[in-house]
Amino acid sequence: MRLYELSARDIASGVRGKKFSATEVFDECLSRAVACDGKLAALITTTVEAGRAAAGRIDGRVSRGEDPGPLAGVPVILKDNMCTHGIRTTAASRVLGDWAPPYSATVWELLSSAGAVLLGKANMDEFAMGNTTSTSAFGPTANPWDVSRVPGGSSGGSAAAVAAGYTPVALGSDTGGSIRQPASYCGIYGLKPTYGLVSRYGLIAYGSSLDQIGPFARTVGDAALAMQILARHDPRDSTSVPGKKIDFTCREGALKKKRVALVREFRGFTLDAPIADAMKRVTRLFEEAGAEVVEVSLPTVARYAVACYYAIAASEAHTNLARYDGVRYGRAAPGAAGLKEMYETVRSEGFGVEVKSRIIAGTCLTEPVRSEEYYVAATRVRTLIAEEFRRAFESADCILQPVTPSLPEKIGEMDEDATKGYESDLYTLPVNMAGLPGFTFWTGRAENFGEKTGLPVGLQLVGPRWSDGELLNVGFALEKILGAPKIASL
Ligand code: GLN
Repeated sequence: MRLYELSARDIASGVRGKKFSATEVFDECLSRAVACDGKLAALITTTVEAGRAAAGRIDGRVSRGEDPGPLAGVPVILKDNMCTHGIRTTAASRVLGDWAPPYSATVWELLSSAGAVLLGKANMDEFAMGNTTSTSAFGPTANPWDVSRVPGGSSGGSAAAVAAGYTPVALGSDTGGSIRQPASYCGIYGLKPTYGLVSRYGLIAYGSSLDQIGPFARTVGDAALAMQILARHDPRDSTSVPGKKIDFTCREGALKKKRVALVREFRGFTLDAPIADAMKRVTRLFEEAGAEVVEVSLPTVARYAVACYYAIAASEAHTNLARYDGVRYGRAAPGAAGLKEMYETVRSEGFGVEVKSRIIAGTCLTEPVRSEEYYVAATRVRTLIAEEFRRAFESADCILQPVTPSLPEKIGEMDEDATKGYESDLYTLPVNMAGLPGFTFWTGRAENFGEKTGLPVGLQLVGPRWSDGELLNVGFALEKILGAPKIASL
């Protein structure tokens, strides 16, 4: 086995036990990334020097007999909307230019003090708006299982990198599915934690009441290991919830007597055949393992979640993106004749089409004359959605549902019909609206499905708030039965 194929757990224990050095691991992962990235374009920035220096420091600590931490020498990748001190952070937008933040996101401080080593910053949809990683100002990322297809998004770079073996773990952010959907498209695991569990300090905001950072991994154990480090109260983030101790130890026997729900309203919706098959197969697996399969009803979710999400997300985005004015960050317009021209130049040249359309939508929806009818109405429906889930979890421990209705499309296909993309988010957005945890797990690869044969098929578990550890435990049991995904050979 090559070093880049190892799990984060095995890398950390190998480095701590002096089986190999952090520098050897870093160099192997780096060569893998360099060998694949010409085809995938998963990375915006490769942090060769900073990463190798950090790996050297870990090796130094090991040789002095110090404890290098639970992620000793584990190479990781961050989505490029997480601030890294002194390292270019772009959110895949021209508006930020070569901005190098003067501080780091809490998530990166936590990972690096646990011994992780940064390999790069991943490509994404601009400001995390999209589900294809094609709205990036740096061009699209490809899916490692079929390079003519999208890896999903908006955290598509992080997901593609983990699936292709650049690093065992990467971080993404999920506002309405951006961890779970690319995890599914790239055939790996991805957790969107409960809102408030992982700090958003230093995450470039899209929809602040929806955004949450979480891990991608090729084993459930690695996702749990990352969460053990990331799930901490952060006084610098006012939405981080104190006093939550979640156990992320993976244990056997999580399926027995578990009440797993299917959603009645989703039953009639069309799914690609391999996804429908996976739903049946996994439902049967649950029953065989002693779980009880029940039904819950989410009528408001099924009818209104998509419209409400886009109203809320666009409204928050228009506020959050007002700060890119040519003064405080990145791109400037030195030749502009006055203030107005400066704003106009910076914002019209700096933002891409998708981001502009959401800023305009958000501006309209929150205008005083309209906000009661649209924005405020959407926030009311959001409360109903949260309440509907709360009731559902009185009779169920978790919900089993698809991540998306279809398998990855060709790069460029979705651009022609953006609203089709919005609708395909139905299974992911409601989870953010209610602040719940959602976990994508790999179930296998599509068989006999025309030109989409061989693509990975993922499904999703959704649980009540703070059930993140439980969801990973169910995922751990399923991984035992279904097997863990392999690295895509490129
Ligand atoms: N596709 C959704 C959107 O474009 C979700 C994106 C995300 O989770 N960041 O808003």
